[in-house]
Amino acid sequence: MTDKTNETEKTSANFIKTIIEKDLQENKNNSRVHTRFPPEPNGYLHIGHAKSICLNFGLAKEYNGLCNLRFDDTNPTKEEEEYVQSIKEDIRWLGFDWGDREYYASNYFEQLYQYAVRLIEAGKAYICDLTPDETRQYRGTLTQPGKESPFRNRTVEENLDLLGRMRAGEFPDGARTLRAKIDMASPNVNMRDPVMYRILKAPHHRTGDKWCIYPMYDWAHGQCDSIEGITHSICTLEFEAHRPLYDWFIDQLAIFHSRQIEFARLNLNYTVMSKRKLLELVEGGYVNGWNDPRMPTISGLRRRGYTPEAIREFAERIGVAKADSTVDIALLEHCLREDLNKRAPRVMAVLAPLKVIIDNYPEGQVEWLEAENNPEDPAAGARKIPFSREIYIEQDDFREDPPKKFFRLSPGKEIRLKHAYYIKCERVVKDERTGEVIQLHCTYDLQSRGGWTNDGRVVKGTSHWVSAAHAVDAEVRLYEHLFSKEDPGVVKDGADFKDNLNPDSLAVLSGCKVEPGLAEAKAGDRFQFLRQGYFCLDPDTGAGKLVFNRTVSLRDTWSKIEKKTQE
Ligand code: ATP
Ligand code: MG
Repeated sequence: MTDKTNETEKTSANFIKTIIEKDLQENKNNSRVHTRFPPEPNGYLHIGHAKSICLNFGLAKEYNGLCNLRFDDTNPTKEEEEYVQSIKEDIRWLGFDWGDREYYASNYFEQLYQYAVRLIEAGKAYICDLTPDETRQYRGTLTQPGKESPFRNRTVEENLDLLGRMRAGEFPDGARTLRAKIDMASPNVNMRDPVMYRILKAPHHRTGDKWCIYPMYDWAHGQCDSIEGITHSICTLEFEAHRPLYDWFIDQLAIFHSRQIEFARLNLNYTVMSKRKLLELVEGGYVNGWNDPRMPTISGLRRRGYTPEAIREFAERIGVAKADSTVDIALLEHCLREDLNKRAPRVMAVLAPLKVIIDNYPEGQVEWLEAENNPEDPAAGARKIPFSREIYIEQDDFREDPPKKFFRLSPGKEIRLKHAYYIKCERVVKDERTGEVIQLHCTYDLQSRGGWTNDGRVVKGTSHWVSAAHAVDAEVRLYEHLFSKEDPGVVKDGADFKDNLNPDSLAVLSGCKVEPGLAEAKAGDRFQFLRQGYFCLDPDTGAGKLVFNRTVSLRDTWSKIEKKTQE
C-alpha cells in the first residue's frame, strides 16, 4: 500500500477502500462514489466476474454511492442478446441492483464518433490505410520501437473526409482505420498510435445496421466511464499498461476524468476462467451448456446448488490484492458448507439401496415418526416420516464379513436407524448366481423407538433409511472437479487445456430412493442428505423422476488446511 493513512483513521479492509476514503476526505468529485460493472456480452458470467460484481456494487453500497451496469458491446460479431439477459439474471441473483442505470457502450456510439472528430480536428488522430498485417509489423516489439505510418501526416480535411466516408460504408472491412497520433517510439506499445475505429460490416445486436465502423475497446472504455461520471473505475491488472492511453484520450478531450484502479483477477484451481475457453467447452459439447453444474459460471454454480450468500462471503474472504494468485477451490466450498449447514433441511436419501425386511414388524403397519429438520436451526421444526416393515438402507452400511471397527450392520449385529429403531441383522439373502447380497432379514426392538433405549446398551452405528413402500425414486448426479489438473490452463506446446478435463467429473446414480416429502420439492431447493452431503433439486426433474445434483460433500478439506496452517 502506498497511500499513507492517518494513524487515528480506521484502517481499511482493502487498498481500494483506502483510495476511496482518501478521495472522500479530499472532497474529490463532490464526495460522490460511483462505480460500474462493465461486462462484455460475449458469454455467461463466471465466479471471477462475481468477485468484480461484489466489489463494485459492494463499494457503492458501503459509501452511499451508485453502481452502473454497463455492457461493453463494441464487438458485434461475438455479442448476443442471450448473454445480456443471462448477465442481468446472474447479477440480480447475486443480490445486486443497478436501478434504472442499465447502459450500453453502444448508447454512446454517436458521442464517441464526435469525440473522434474532435481529435482529428486537433491533429491528434488520422486515417491509416495500412493493412492489419502491416499495422502489426509497424508496431514494433517490446524491445524495438515502432515505425510511423506513411499516412500519419494527412491533413485534417482529408482525415475528416475519409472518416465520414468510412462511416458511410464506402470502404470494405479492414481497408482503413482511425488511429490516435501519439508516439510510435513509446516504450509502452499501447501508446504507439493505437487503432480507435475499424471497419466492420456486421450488424450489432442493438444498433442493427446503423454502424459499419466500431470503436475499439481501448477507445470506448475510458470515454464511457467519463460520460457516466464514474468516479472509481475498477478493473483487473492487465489494464494497468493501458491506463496512460486512457489518460491521454481524456486529457486531449478535456472531459471528466475517472480514476482507474487495478486489482488482481480471481483465479481458482481445477478450473478455467476465460470466457473463450468456457465457450469452447460449451460449443464442443464437453459440458451440457453454460449452466452445467460443473462449470465455474454463476449459472452453473446456481444450478449446482450454490447460494448467493456463500458466493458473497467467498468474495469477502478472498479480498482484493495487487498481485495475481490462485485461490483454492476448497475455500469456495467451505463458504458454501458454512451457509448450507445453517439453512439446508436434513432429509434421508438412500443412494445405493439394499432392501431390509423387518420380520417381527407387523405387516401392513405404518408409523409416522418425528424427525427434526435441522439441528442447527431450532426454528426449522420437525416433520413426520413413515416407517414400515420393508425399508432400504445404504449398501455400504452392511458388510457380511466386516473388518474390525466396522460399526455398521453385519450378521448378528445391531445398528440404530436414525429417528426410528434399533435393528439386528438375522439373515442374509444372496443372488444364487452371483453371490451378491440382495436382501437382509432383520428384527427390530420396540423398546428403542426414536433410536434410543435406557438399558445402557451401546449401539455405535447409525444409518439413514427410507420406507420401501413410501420412498420416491430419484436420480442423483455426483460431481468432481471439471479438470483433473490444478492448473488446467497451463499446457505445454501442442497440448490443449481440454486434455486436462477430468473424465470422472460426472457420475449418474439411478435407482436412488428418497423420503416421500421430497416429491413436493421445487427445482432449486437445497437439502442435506444425512451423511451424504448437500443436494439441490435440478430443473431436469420431470414426471415421476426427481433429479438431484450433489452440491458439495460433507467433508471439509478447507478446515483441515486452515487447522494445519495454524498449528
Ligand atoms: P474473461 O477473461 O473471462 O473473458 P473479461 O475480462 O474479458 O473476462 P469482461 O466481460 O470484460 O470479461 O469482464 C467484466 C468485468 O469483470 C471486468 O471489469 C473484468 O475486469 C472483471 N473480471 C473478469 N474476469 C475476472 C476475474 N477472473 N476476476 C476478477 N474480475 C474479473
Ligand atoms: Mg474483457
